[in-house]
Amino acid sequence: MTDQIPGFGALARRQTLAVRIGASTVGGGAPVVVQSMTNTDTADIDGTTRQVAQLWRAGSELVRITVNTEEAAAAVVRIREKLDRMSVPVPLIGDFHYNGHLLLSRYPECAEALAKYRINPGNVGFGAKRDTQFATIIEHAIKYQKPVRIGANWGSLDQGLLTRLMDENARSAVPLDAPAVAREALIQSALISAARAEEIGLPADRIIVSCKVSGVQELIAVYRELARRSRYPLHLGLTEAGMGSKGIVASTAALAVLLQEGIGDTIRISLTPEPGESRNREVIVAQELLQTMGLRAFTPMVTACPGCGRTTSTFFQELAKTVQEHVRERMPEWRLQYRGVENLTLAVMGCIVNGPGESKHANIGISLPGTGESPAAPVFIDGAKVATLRGDRISEEFVGMIEDYVQRSYAPVGGSAEEQ
Ligand code: SF4
Repeated sequence: MTDQIPGFGALARRQTLAVRIGASTVGGGAPVVVQSMTNTDTADIDGTTRQVAQLWRAGSELVRITVNTEEAAAAVVRIREKLDRMSVPVPLIGDFHYNGHLLLSRYPECAEALAKYRINPGNVGFGAKRDTQFATIIEHAIKYQKPVRIGANWGSLDQGLLTRLMDENARSAVPLDAPAVAREALIQSALISAARAEEIGLPADRIIVSCKVSGVQELIAVYRELARRSRYPLHLGLTEAGMGSKGIVASTAALAVLLQEGIGDTIRISLTPEPGESRNREVIVAQELLQTMGLRAFTPMVTACPGCGRTTSTFFQELAKTVQEHVRERMPEWRLQYRGVENLTLAVMGCIVNGPGESKHANIGISLPGTGESPAAPVFIDGAKVATLRGDRISEEFVGMIEDYVQRSYAPVGGSAEEQ
């Protein structure tokens, strides 16, 4: 199985089973799926519905909600109904810890309304109850024909399994270091639980596996091993990635290495939002990661130079921002109207040094005048200079040219390929 990277040919993907989640497919060679998770109280039906819809509109193809209390479980079906009335078809994933067996049993409408269950083998239950509680959740997944993600996590590792592996390691002739044993415990926790789910009767093509850790090198090591030892689709994500640029850089560093090796079938970027920041950021970062790697196209990409001593006014930065925001705002409508518009490329450049050259590589590019240059901004369309903008309406005129190009260049959705 391969992904075609424009200009670079085929990228081999790890072969996995295909898991259906609502209308989406994870694994089996399907494009890598973007998912996200709400941070509202699920019992707050209006707030959670609103955030799920926002995440979906931002491009999240699956949305996970926590199902942690009776009130949350009771709310799930109402949230699903509201989303359906709003024509938001995104599959909802229920995140269960500790009491999933009880909530799924007591709230069958919740069990039915969810498109997938996520359970953490370290948090299913403790002692003698662990196996029966795990079996109860899996039996509900079988009954309602739902897939399950078995998602182990560094922060809630099965302590019994870890202790056993540590003891075995201590007796080994060639003992591993402690972090390597902990990684092995995490992998075994997920794979033993997945095998147990199959024994109970859950088909293998309804299982997705993840082993989340918070360190970049640990995540790469764990997933390489997980990929080698299983055929389940893998959910990739660096857990507790953090806030702002640190979270983005750490997630991107880890996930890019694995995706380049063909590992990973669905991704989430676990960013901590700044106070007041939109939750959509994690969706946008996930899309940008996949798109900049050439794995998928979601939205037109804007190339902009960083600016330097040749761009002493703020106009260049303002235009780059205006174009970026215009594209993001218009994309939900464009996507419904114009086939392939997500492949549009734009360039906003600061001066003559790289401006005309980079602009010619884009579908539409503008090269602004740098400090000391004559106040004229040539615009290039598909490599040819078509206009020179001047004066104080450059921004509006350039945005108008983008709109015009989109209308002229992309066939209507539902139109024939020849029209394009
Ligand atoms: S294109 Fe011009 S303004 Fe932009 S970084 Fe290069 S030299 Fe500086």
